[in-house]
Amino acid sequence: MSWEEKVRSVVPYVPGEQPKFPDMIKINTNECPYPPSPLAAQELTLMNASDFRLYPDAEASELVKSLASYYRVPEDRIFVGVGSDDVLAQIFLTFFTNGNVLLFPEITYSFYEVWADLYRIPYEKVPLTDDWHIQMMSRPDAGGIIFANPNAPTGIYEPLSFVEEMVKNHPDCVVVVDEAYIDFGSESAIPLTEKYDNLLVVQTFSKSRAMAGMRIGFAIGNPKLISYLKDVKYSINSYTMNMPSIRIGVATLRDEEYFKEITQKIIATREETKEKLKALGFEMTDSATNFLFIRHPRVSGKELFEALRSQNIFVRRFDIPGIEDYLRVTIGTPEQMDRVISFLEVYLK
Ligand code: PMP
Repeated sequence: MSWEEKVRSVVPYVPGEQPKFPDMIKINTNECPYPPSPLAAQELTLMNASDFRLYPDAEASELVKSLASYYRVPEDRIFVGVGSDDVLAQIFLTFFTNGNVLLFPEITYSFYEVWADLYRIPYEKVPLTDDWHIQMMSRPDAGGIIFANPNAPTGIYEPLSFVEEMVKNHPDCVVVVDEAYIDFGSESAIPLTEKYDNLLVVQTFSKSRAMAGMRIGFAIGNPKLISYLKDVKYSINSYTMNMPSIRIGVATLRDEEYFKEITQKIIATREETKEKLKALGFEMTDSATNFLFIRHPRVSGKELFEALRSQNIFVRRFDIPGIEDYLRVTIGTPEQMDRVISFLEVYLK
């Protein structure tokens, strides 16, 4: 057997590209178009490089404390990580490698399938309904369930009654709700984690808190779940979160007013953009996120993607059967969206 046959080879997740052109409109990775809270910038100036000589606090206690008071939950119900991708990867390893079938929607965050393959987890992809909603996923022998709410890239939010039903139906496995886009007008399932000991809710600072570059994500759930997660994390790498992320994360959480201001602005721009795109003939889902999932009946997704790209407007398109004609367009500033609309008006004439 050659060494290559002994390799754990995987097909990796392909992140959205990070092009760098001075005049580009980068609306391809659901980043926030506004800067983080001024308190984050201030905290940065207070940092002392000589502190970096030491390891960071492995528990990220200050950040855990801030999250606990922000979400009004005890500290032992919180797990933090290097972006929600890190948190989710640890969750897959901790709760889903039990040999049973993991359930997730057929169209959802495509990283779920990558982690399942990486950890050799058998899985079943459950189709969405005809109108793009997540279906109730059910299987008596399920080894775990994960879905994004609002879902990506459809942007559709399912009510908490749906989440609760899914958890209730599966008391014997861990159910994970990925709420990366919850802050753009939806209600979080965090309160349900007090009622159900098998529910984990995952969130991120990357979208609504304008901090994709700091890599901060967290999970909230029953202390037992958190304790199992920590055991796995400490078996891989104790010091996952670096000092600046911890401190800047804490500072950001203090600025509720700014958080409300930028999320409200994005929601308002989203609703305006929806109307303008509809007027141009676009079809779309009712997105509750910081992106739109759009399709034009006359022009293919590939053609539109290329046309926008030729103008240095970067959007995301997934070459996945069923959604290949859709574009996922992140909500930028009103000025950026006006430029996109102006171009489309001319292009679609
Ligand atoms: N979940 C979903 C549904 C996402 O779209 C993303 C962003 N790509 C993530 C999780 C990961 O975000 P991050 O690692 O930046 O927290």
